[in-house]
Amino acid sequence: MSIDHSDNPTIFGKILRGEIPCKKVYEDAEVLAFHDIKPMAEVHFLIIPKKFIPTLAHTVADDTALLGKMLALVPVLAREQGLGDGFRTAINTGKLGGQDVYHLHIHVFGNRPGGNPLRVMSGAD
Ligand code: 5GP
Repeated sequence: MSIDHSDNPTIFGKILRGEIPCKKVYEDAEVLAFHDIKPMAEVHFLIIPKKFIPTLAHTVADDTALLGKMLALVPVLAREQGLGDGFRTAINTGKLGGQDVYHLHIHVFGNRPGGNPLRVMSGAD
């Protein structure tokens, strides 16, 4: 079943509709992964569902399998992108969670072996 992206008003909707390009990491019928346009580390990509879900807080019980699939893809794609030694994941949710694009996405970022470890987020600054 193909997914209708016409109701997705976000920049990621434009990517899903092919209106703007992305550097693709992975794609299947339910999920797309692509490199972040402003990387916060040597490698930084996003995993998004093709279904339009604005935030993690908008997910429903029916989304459980999709969420599990997205999470299970994280280490697989991270390894493929050279992050076998470690990486960070983040899901920003809502205004106070620092979310800018209101289409659910998992950030995956890290530095390749020999690079600097990511600075630990203290939450204090
Ligand atoms: P958020 O702040 O919502 O958690 O993260 C949104 C992310 O989307 C940011 O890291 C930002 O750099 C990325 N982003 C925004 N617009 C585009 C775009 O047009 N293409 C790509 N590849 N990434 C984008």
